[in-house]
Amino acid sequence: MAHVKLHIPGPVEVSEKTLQAMTRPMIGHRGQGFKDLYAKIQPQLQTLLSTKQLVYLSTSSAWGVMEGALSNLVTKKVLNCMCGAFSDKWFDVSKKVGKEAEALQVPWGSPIRAEQIDAKLATGQFDALTLIHNETSTGTMSPLDEIAALKAKYPDVMFIVDAVSSMTAMPHRFDELGIDVLLAGTQKAFALPPGLAVFVASPAALAKAATVKTRGYYFDFVEFEKNAKESMTPSTPSIPHIHALSSKLDDFFAEGLEARYARHTKTNQMLRDWASKHGFTLFPEPGFESKTLVCLNNGAKPGGRVVDVAKLQKGMKDRGVLIDGGYGKIKGTTFRVSNMGDETEATIADLVAKLDESIAGL
Ligand SMILES: *Cc1c(COP(=O)(O)O)cnc(C)c1O
Repeated sequence: MAHVKLHIPGPVEVSEKTLQAMTRPMIGHRGQGFKDLYAKIQPQLQTLLSTKQLVYLSTSSAWGVMEGALSNLVTKKVLNCMCGAFSDKWFDVSKKVGKEAEALQVPWGSPIRAEQIDAKLATGQFDALTLIHNETSTGTMSPLDEIAALKAKYPDVMFIVDAVSSMTAMPHRFDELGIDVLLAGTQKAFALPPGLAVFVASPAALAKAATVKTRGYYFDFVEFEKNAKESMTPSTPSIPHIHALSSKLDDFFAEGLEARYARHTKTNQMLRDWASKHGFTLFPEPGFESKTLVCLNNGAKPGGRVVDVAKLQKGMKDRGVLIDGGYGKIKGTTFRVSNMGDETEATIADLVAKLDESIAGL
């Protein structure tokens, strides 16, 4: 069967080079070969995230670390900032791991603002918050800098941030932000296959985790730190993924991080231009649109064009491309197209031409 190219917001298309990197002969995870591999990528990851902390590799999807961060860091009550399907779910997960949790819910498509968080934290009830930087379900980006600045006012509150669909597409200066946990899964902007998560924790987060007896085993942050110091992971990792990550990091630095970020901005703008050319408005509140995907309003909000999304998807699939038909309660009344990962001006120009043809056929 012919491969249908992925332009859904995760998993995204994986290059032949990356797939090849995964086929290296197996090595033992306690041997020097593995330590050399992790030691080689550690400084690359630290540069990528602008941190002096050790960056951890978790053989799980992002949710593993998202759940693990709650187990490691919440002892009082967590504030779950909610503005879409993934961030809403984090509230359910907090309750499932037995944590006291409160929802800070804004309408889907709105960002989370610092003043809303400030008002909640001022009650003194919370020792942690969860935030999704780029809410992939709605294509909405919350202002992380503005929110992270609150950390100075609330040093004892653990700021847990999901950058799953923004990490590597724009800078995340972890030490400068001063937040406590930053995490991503690799099947989004990293353009690796699903199954690996990358994360970093602050010294304060590690100190807090060490005091929490029920922090679990598989996602024990203290174990991640202890092992990372020896260029190892707590349990047997997906070594093929780590070879692929190593290959990918070489690509990032060969291109240059700033060029990579600029490429994402440019390709995203091309998709926004396509939307406006065809009469679609974007679903997110203006000024808070994602740079790694577009979420087009298709009736979920007043104004703009409305089309048969299933037919549009079919037209694209016939042309060898998969786009997304909307997520959760805005399925069909929105649709999404991703520009994250390896996409270039040339590949997005090709995509746009196919979108033009498909929409003309509706
Ligand atoms: C995809 C995604 C997740 C979930 O990732 P899994 O790999 O399914 O665990 C979480 N948060 C955001 C923002 C995402 O885009």
